[in-house]
Amino acid sequence: MTSNNDTLFARAQLTTPGGVNSPVRAFRSVGGTPRFISRAEGPYFWDADDRRYIDYIGSWGPAIVGHAHPEVVAAVQQAAARGLSFGAPTEGEVLMAEEICKLVPSIEQVRLVSSGTEAAMSALRLARGATGRDTIVKFEGCYHGHADSLLVKAGSGLLTFGNPTSAGVPEDFAKHTLVLDYNDPQQLEEVFARMGDKIACVMVEPIAGNMNLMRATPEFLQTMRTVCSRHGAVMVFDEVMSGFRVALGGAQSLYGIAPDMTVLGKVIGGGLPVAAFGGPAHLMKHLAPLGGVYQAGTLSGNPVAVAAGMTTLKLIQAPGFYEKLGAQTLKLTTGLAAAAKAAGVTFCADAVGGMFGMYFAPDVPVTYETMMACDKTRFNRFFHAMLDAGVYLAPSAFEAGFVSAQHDDAVIEATLAAARGAFAA
Ligand SMILES: *Cc1c(COP(=O)(O)O)cnc(C)c1O
Repeated sequence: MTSNNDTLFARAQLTTPGGVNSPVRAFRSVGGTPRFISRAEGPYFWDADDRRYIDYIGSWGPAIVGHAHPEVVAAVQQAAARGLSFGAPTEGEVLMAEEICKLVPSIEQVRLVSSGTEAAMSALRLARGATGRDTIVKFEGCYHGHADSLLVKAGSGLLTFGNPTSAGVPEDFAKHTLVLDYNDPQQLEEVFARMGDKIACVMVEPIAGNMNLMRATPEFLQTMRTVCSRHGAVMVFDEVMSGFRVALGGAQSLYGIAPDMTVLGKVIGGGLPVAAFGGPAHLMKHLAPLGGVYQAGTLSGNPVAVAAGMTTLKLIQAPGFYEKLGAQTLKLTTGLAAAAKAAGVTFCADAVGGMFGMYFAPDVPVTYETMMACDKTRFNRFFHAMLDAGVYLAPSAFEAGFVSAQHDDAVIEATLAAARGAFAA
């Protein structure tokens, strides 16, 4: 019997490039046919063949309270009934801005946008506009959405400017982006000593989730804070993934380091398109209509999306929410490591809040290079064995995983039972 997933994927490829609207969904890295999802509830989703999976991507982070949470769905339905979009301000946007500023104290003012890409791109423009400088610093392995200046990888050798990672990004853009090594404070200091007065901003994922999960070392972020302050560069934490995911106050609350600007997305939309960037008023005042840095959006602060986001932000403030989420995630990763050990598979795992990493490597990687050395072939085998057993992991060895508040003990135990078989496969 042919699978509806196969049929849909064949049809999709006729009218959509690669059959998907975002590349990692295409299963290119792991091989096989992508699952077309028909519905989701709590920790589960179902594909086009009505097969149920325990979901560990949670829409790549947003589904932190579980899929189709009744309160979120009700808020969306009520907002939708009042009208979908007005192109004029609403009370919901005021409440959401107040909530973000309360939860992330380094943010005094915030602007809402519709995607993490847009938020990171706008934060970058603001940093350049506010400092009057063009050069930006990012780190190999961090992802900040697909704005031209950010789709840049390291050139050959230290202190060379970046090369585009995508066709269509002019060299002229890439040459303003300096790509350094994650977790290398010394290199950062050297670069700032050499050209600190030309650097508009340093953008970083303070807990990286786009090269699998990788924690920044405290020294790395502390050095970044010091050199940015010393040279008047804007320190930007891209917390699109880590925000409201690793802790209520994001990675910055765990490290106790306040960036100048923060980029948010994923969880703050609760599954609908909301993202944001914010920081102190003296920086944010450079934005139009107050200042000369232009940024706008027809659907920015959309009332239906804001309703989903606000309800999610309310739910994650329930007493003990992060303690429980962190405990469940840790149960998963320690269980996975034990299962791998029993099967004699070289494997380790890490978890921060509701986010986890799995590594087919002896130790948790702290550099991009060691991350890339993880056994990708072994991951792919594990991925497919888990998928066959009804557990949906990120379809790439270099993506993080996500647990929701609905992943209870029974769900984790079912996952570990599947893993015991998958590690042996
Ligand atoms: C997902 C992500 C983005 C991009 O967000 P989109 O909403 O997909 O555009 C940016 N930065 C980080 C750290 C992300 O994880």
